[in-house]
Amino acid sequence: MNEPIKKIAVLTSGGDAPGMNAAIRAVVRACTYYRIDCLGIYRGYQGLIEGDFKPFTAREVSNIINKGGTVLQSARSEEFKTLEGRQKAFENLKEAGVGGLVIIGGDGTFTGGLKFIEEFNFPIVGIPGTIDNDIYGTDKTIGYDTALNTVVEAIDKIRDTASSHNRLFFIEVMGRDAGFIALNTGIGAGAEEILIPEKNLGLDRLEESLKVSKKSGKSSSIVVVSEGDKIGKNVFELADYIKEKYPFYDIRVSVLGHMQRGGSPSCYDRVLASRLGVAAVETLLDRSTGVMVGVTNNQVSTVGLNKAIKMNNDINIELLKVAEITSV
Ligand code: ATP
Repeated sequence: MNEPIKKIAVLTSGGDAPGMNAAIRAVVRACTYYRIDCLGIYRGYQGLIEGDFKPFTAREVSNIINKGGTVLQSARSEEFKTLEGRQKAFENLKEAGVGGLVIIGGDGTFTGGLKFIEEFNFPIVGIPGTIDNDIYGTDKTIGYDTALNTVVEAIDKIRDTASSHNRLFFIEVMGRDAGFIALNTGIGAGAEEILIPEKNLGLDRLEESLKVSKKSGKSSSIVVVSEGDKIGKNVFELADYIKEKYPFYDIRVSVLGHMQRGGSPSCYDRVLASRLGVAAVETLLDRSTGVMVGVTNNQVSTVGLNKAIKMNNDINIELLKVAEITSV
């Protein structure tokens, strides 16, 4: 594997995120810029196993920077979790003359990539693409900023109706293991309480802050609940529990769901994705492998894929205090 790289392949895998297209575009165009070929692999690792790929040129990625989703499509591949599946994928890459692979995705995608490197010594660089922002080694993941804006816009709309009817809303947002979306959109949309997986604030505190809101004369209350919060009740059970104890509340539940993944990427995500796409190609051409490219303190940085997977991106606890203070 020491000859110069003449062809790089790119795939998107796991959950899609706005900005993935901007990253694909940047990878393809960086390949053109550095005069190497680029191969687009459809449906993530499954497409790699099935040989579902085609050459991508700079013009083929025109007008996709503004589009949500991924033109390469994404998939979850059980077959890639088997050695036979990964063997097929390796043979396909070798046959197509690919010298390096860019994988855009989250934890699972990187775990699969790392295995592939260990088994076949194949050069791989990762780009963090997930709305959850739960990947160590980058200040932000691609799609996170767009998701924040989407969620804030949705909560603003819910606030309008909540205020008109003096209602209490429980709004569930994505984030099974990480509360970045809940915490930041909760502050951004002025929620009365925010429940996140990283910290179990307990039912007492929730009840207390609802009482405080009621007493202070607020015309509505909004509780933003992360999917994976640790209070031990899902958003519907939480609403039922409060209704039973405080029947005077007019309560509604809203689960924002998959709309959080869609939409045109924000300018921030487009720029981030463009920087990381270029960086991934340059990193492979520099003969580096097994790393993820990210942006740390506004500088492009790299971190080992093993670290990116194993370590956690810490939540900024100061934000919880800000949320408490600004919701009085
Ligand atoms: P998101 O966090 O947005 O869901 P992700 O990259 O973590 O994205 P996963 O579905 O966990 O999404 O993983 C994507 C794909 O990576 C899987 O479908 C599988 O093909 C591959 N993968 C995940 N874990 C492993 C593993 N342990 N070994 C081999 N491949 C894996």
